[in-house]
Amino acid sequence: KTERKIIEDSIREIKDFPKPGIVFKDITTLLSDKYAFGVLMNHLYQRYKEYNLDFIVGIDARGFIFASALAQMLGIGFVPIRKHGKLPYTTIGEKYSLEYGVDEVEIHIDAFRGQKDARVLLLDDLIATGGTANAAATLIKQAGAECVEACFVVTLTFLDGYKEVEKKTPVYSIIEVK
Ligand code: 5GP
Repeated sequence: KTERKIIEDSIREIKDFPKPGIVFKDITTLLSDKYAFGVLMNHLYQRYKEYNLDFIVGIDARGFIFASALAQMLGIGFVPIRKHGKLPYTTIGEKYSLEYGVDEVEIHIDAFRGQKDARVLLLDDLIATGGTANAAATLIKQAGAECVEACFVVTLTFLDGYKEVEKKTPVYSIIEVK
């Protein structure tokens, strides 16, 4: 089995969650599989060890799991981007539209510890419409850092979301769902 196949096979599909018609990619079965989780983290480590990164940014909430683990493997810091109202200190926010309504993600204003042009990797479990990742990439820039790449364990390529993110920063996907 290839690395991609091992990772792909460890992700469970849940039909009609959270709404009818949606096939949700459940990564909890990847996380509890020590072999698959290890293959994934090693894959990410091998890719990013030469990138000279300063921080890994993870998106609320599943992105945190992969981003914090990778940050430790690379010996660098982890920074969270969270849903509105969750971060305790002064924040910068960015709104994005959903199918119905708007949502907002936030970053701490001093997230990159005053480091100028910090090199940052944005990491999340999955990109669908791209709304979340796009807003996150904007926030990284507004907080004074450079988003050198956006990485997703799963990209839903039947949606065009990743194309919008690609206008801002290179996108790397481990698994593409067509
Ligand atoms: P987007 O903003 O690209 O439409 O949605 C991406 C965000 O929603 C990500 O933060 C991701 O965690 C979550 N998400 C949407 N669909 C799924 C899914 O099928 N599986 C998982 N694990 N997360 C999803």
